[in-house]
Amino acid sequence: MALFPAPGTSESSIEVKDRYGHYIGGEWVDPVKGDYFENPSPVTGETFTQVARGTAEDIEKALDAAHAAAPAWGRTSPAERAVILNKIADRMEENLEDLAVIETWDNGKAVRETLAADLPLAVDHFRYFAGCIRAQEGGISEIDETTIAYHFHEPLGVVGQIIPWNFPILMAVWKLAPALAAGNAVVLKPAEQTPWSILKLAELIGDLLPPGVLNIVNGFGAEAGAPLASNPRIAKIAFTGETTTGRLIMQYASQNIIPVTLELGGKSPNLFFEDVAAQDDAFYDKALEGFAMFALNQGEVCTCPSRALVQKSIRDKFVEDGIKRVEAVARLHPLDTDSMIGAQASNDQFEKIMSYLDIGKKEGAKVLVGGDKVDPQELPEEIRGGFYIQPTVFEGNNAMRIFQEEIFGPVVSLATFDDDDEALQMANDTLYGLGAGVWTRDMNRAYRMGRGIKAGRVWTNCYHQYPAHAAFGGYKQSGIGRENHKMMLDHYQQTKNLLVSYSPDKLGFF
Ligand code: NAD
Repeated sequence: MALFPAPGTSESSIEVKDRYGHYIGGEWVDPVKGDYFENPSPVTGETFTQVARGTAEDIEKALDAAHAAAPAWGRTSPAERAVILNKIADRMEENLEDLAVIETWDNGKAVRETLAADLPLAVDHFRYFAGCIRAQEGGISEIDETTIAYHFHEPLGVVGQIIPWNFPILMAVWKLAPALAAGNAVVLKPAEQTPWSILKLAELIGDLLPPGVLNIVNGFGAEAGAPLASNPRIAKIAFTGETTTGRLIMQYASQNIIPVTLELGGKSPNLFFEDVAAQDDAFYDKALEGFAMFALNQGEVCTCPSRALVQKSIRDKFVEDGIKRVEAVARLHPLDTDSMIGAQASNDQFEKIMSYLDIGKKEGAKVLVGGDKVDPQELPEEIRGGFYIQPTVFEGNNAMRIFQEEIFGPVVSLATFDDDDEALQMANDTLYGLGAGVWTRDMNRAYRMGRGIKAGRVWTNCYHQYPAHAAFGGYKQSGIGRENHKMMLDHYQQTKNLLVSYSPDKLGFF
């Protein structure tokens, strides 16, 4: 066990400034209007720094810097950019522990997750796209003996990116790595709930990029996000956040006819077939862990397996064993490496989850475990002001609001099914289509389910793994486009085709 000291205290090597500006053109810049907002740590509920409250004027400044930098950056070779991306990865890796603590302090998630997952994944993302961009090839098509079509990949130029608060560094890196690899300059707006860790990342890696290639403007959605997404000076907008906000982003983008990628909400089903409980073996144990995965990152994951669909014949055994697994989720200080769960990211999110606990109870769902906030007396004294909710299992039916609406908390809604057909029907009975889990020993059934579920990612006998080289994204109202995987580069590049004739012969029309 290790308990990391809180950033900014005398025991910690992590510096916390009183206030942070925007990162524009390689420099720290005060907001044009001079306003700042408070940034509390969800671990304690207390404000630890102030952050610039950006407006359209700051977005324009950042776009000036990005446009100044984009042409030269776009002309660098893939090999040159790959070297820089690898240096970014190396520097992040050298400072991994600090970044993990920073992310925990800003977002609330357990440090064992930031150490083992968020940061290593972010590092690997830069390395992966450094490799992809070097391996990318244009194409030559022989149209006829003397006519050749050459295909080139060109950067889009300056792109806008807007991210949420649930995986601040990782969500930033999912967007930055491919955009930078492809030769674009970026203006990124972090979520107002978690601006600090991305600013610390910029502090750490900013000097590795030419000034103006990476710009970060903080602020609220309507004040800083909308002027970015609707700006005629961006060539693309990439967004991760709520489906309702995604709709607005599409409208903004339509004004300028620019491409959007949208990574939106989910209500992912996690299907447990009767054969998982056929033996009390390692596989069954793994499936029980798969059930408890709804509590990972306090349930603040777009792919949270928030609907557990369990075959009726194993309901009693599975529920009994599953609840034991949920009860074993250790809660300590989020900066303690033994804690398996942390704080919800903000007071607003805490209130939203609490309201859904009420909704579930009023709808008549049965609380099998949890169902309330954590009693502050059970927490270490210094974190009693933070935002902590018990992992909760409801039992009900798929028509209930707690089965249909994204709660984004450590809450799973459990229902039973009779057979494969009903399992598939229930899995797909949602507006969303982001993730899903299938647990079975029968790989033919796993394949049928995997192909039948309308979701961009179906985990089979695993869950919540996010390798850089596996495509990720939504069906239905969960989004448009994909992130991760080299196919992502297509979202950040134009294809230029040069069609060349090497023949002196007439075209033959006139
Ligand atoms: P949100 O939509 O409220 O905010 C996301 C970002 O959009 C923030 O930076 C916010 O400031 C900005 N924003 C808000 N209104 C805006 C506007 N009018 N114009 C421009 N920008 C605006 O979402 P959130 O609450 O921060 O994040 C949680 C949501 O994100 C959940 O629905 C979750 O499922 C989703 N999410 C999806 C994925 C995915 O990959 N599909 C990953 C993580 C989170």
